[in-house]
Amino acid sequence: MSRYIGPVCRQCRREGIKLMIKGPRCETAKCPMEKQWRSNPPGMHAWRRGKGSGYALRLREKQKVKRYYGLFERQFMIYFRHAERARENTGTAFLKLLERRLDNVIYKAGLASSRKGGRVMVGHGHIYVNGRRVDRPGYLVNQGDQISVKPSERSKKLAKSYMEFSQDKAQQPWLQVDASKLEVTVAALPSRDDVQIPVEEQLIVEMCSR
Ligand code: SF4
Repeated sequence: MSRYIGPVCRQCRREGIKLMIKGPRCETAKCPMEKQWRSNPPGMHAWRRGKGSGYALRLREKQKVKRYYGLFERQFMIYFRHAERARENTGTAFLKLLERRLDNVIYKAGLASSRKGGRVMVGHGHIYVNGRRVDRPGYLVNQGDQISVKPSERSKKLAKSYMEFSQDKAQQPWLQVDASKLEVTVAALPSRDDVQIPVEEQLIVEMCSR
């Protein structure tokens, strides 16, 4: 599978938001988004760019979500087509679906320092769901799912170090985290308010429904 190997901070600067890809570094003053002179969009002559067309506006919203959740076009469209079949608003259903990804849940619960880190934790087999190993970062959690860390010294040590780092992180109302046991219970499915990315999902729907 292909993966993006370019400079990731560039993606944050392009989208104008902190995508929190680098984990601990994102919380420090070293983050380019914290510096006025580095937080502008990448590339030369940024000041010459106008407001952008309607298409550009929609494309940016789409790219923002793709980069936030670390998805490529094909995966992104699979989730979108899935959301189109939902009974509720497509944009809301789409974001709620992405929020349920296992790598995102691991990150939100504090068992990884970033979504990318969560993806590695899952891919390397450190995470169990309902007592069974799940190594697909795109696994969609359901209400009542019990997420735990592999009962091995190495996995627990890794998860504990991330847990300590994310102690100050805001609790997610839909996740019950037991830091001492390194366990997470999905108490409810996420609502639109639980999705924290500042995005206008309607613009994504307008672009992808064509
Ligand atoms: Fe880089 Fe993280 Fe800051 Fe984004 S949030 S610019 S990835 S340090």
